[in-house]
Amino acid sequence: MKPLLEGNDNMSGGAFCIICGNSSPLSSDRFCEQCFRKRTELSKFPDRIQQNRCAKCNSFELKGRWSSLTDEEVVELRIKENLLFDERCVKSEVDYSFNIIDERTHRINVNTSGTIEGLEFSNIHDSLLQTSNAVCNSCARRAGSYFEATVQLRSAGRKLDSDELADLRKTLDKIMESDDPNPMYFVTKEGPVTGGWDLQLGSKSLARIWGRNLVKKFGGTVKESSTIVGVNDGIDVTRLTLSYRKPAYTIGDVVRFRKENWLLDSWQKEGPIIRRINRFEKSGVTWRDMESCNLICSFKEQKEVDILSRDSSAAEFMDPLDYTIQTVALPYGDDGKQKSLRIGFIEGEWLALPINPGNK
Ligand SMILES: [Zn+2]
Ligand SMILES: [Zn+2]
Repeated sequence: MKPLLEGNDNMSGGAFCIICGNSSPLSSDRFCEQCFRKRTELSKFPDRIQQNRCAKCNSFELKGRWSSLTDEEVVELRIKENLLFDERCVKSEVDYSFNIIDERTHRINVNTSGTIEGLEFSNIHDSLLQTSNAVCNSCARRAGSYFEATVQLRSAGRKLDSDELADLRKTLDKIMESDDPNPMYFVTKEGPVTGGWDLQLGSKSLARIWGRNLVKKFGGTVKESSTIVGVNDGIDVTRLTLSYRKPAYTIGDVVRFRKENWLLDSWQKEGPIIRRINRFEKSGVTWRDMESCNLICSFKEQKEVDILSRDSSAAEFMDPLDYTIQTVALPYGDDGKQKSLRIGFIEGEWLALPINPGNK
């Protein structure tokens, strides 16, 4: 920025406003303040702004993408997009307010201020933001029963029960409700099938992300296959089928494997890590090995009991079934201070289980 020149000081032979001939302080373009103000506009903002909103999901179109926004957010964004300051302006300030006239119209009031060539300017804009109904891409696809992937939820060797199914399904909602949801992350159709549950999803990437989440959280395996469903611009259009097999067991279950009792400790890609119940020993087994395991005492059937008294090798607790006082041998990993024990009824008696399955 160049400041207003001071009078005629540095002009040989005197300087005058090129419009009115006034010799008061001049701008760098040789205008007096009055003429400079007449020819200068601090900010520009359109009287009318038009925007599209999806009539189905209420998301707004922003630079070719659709986002769900509040009224406050959308007004702020439209101001940012449309408000222009004179490029010589420094110390610009904006302050605005809006009111909702009806479903499709917001009145926006923008006040601007700033300094150009040492002179303070301000401006007031009144504008109407008008909203048209449209249909966003993902709603258009949903309406057309569009789907890119089928996910099959199954269990290894048995039927998935409804609690398990609800647990698996919840993890999908979590992905779809993430902070920056992808509009193609939707479920087109879902329902029970023999032995499990099938879903059609709007996006292959959603199916893959969910598959990885399921394996991480519940163990098991995912198999993918693709089928060609058509050709678009010479490129094959494929659909993904992703089949998830949940293991018949969960972390913390006690299983019989090779004539020993083991606790399911954690999941790995190739199969679970298991721990011996009666002494510390860890082992990795395959999913195929797991199919020859027998469930002895599920995590759900186990009980958490308070320790009433303890010595170095055993503890007393109240039997949760008949309220008698019982004694169990302390499990390995006991720190001598724990106030409770996890017990399972195994082969006709209560047995204390090793501490913190999955954590150690
Ligand atoms: Zn002038
Ligand atoms: Zn929509």
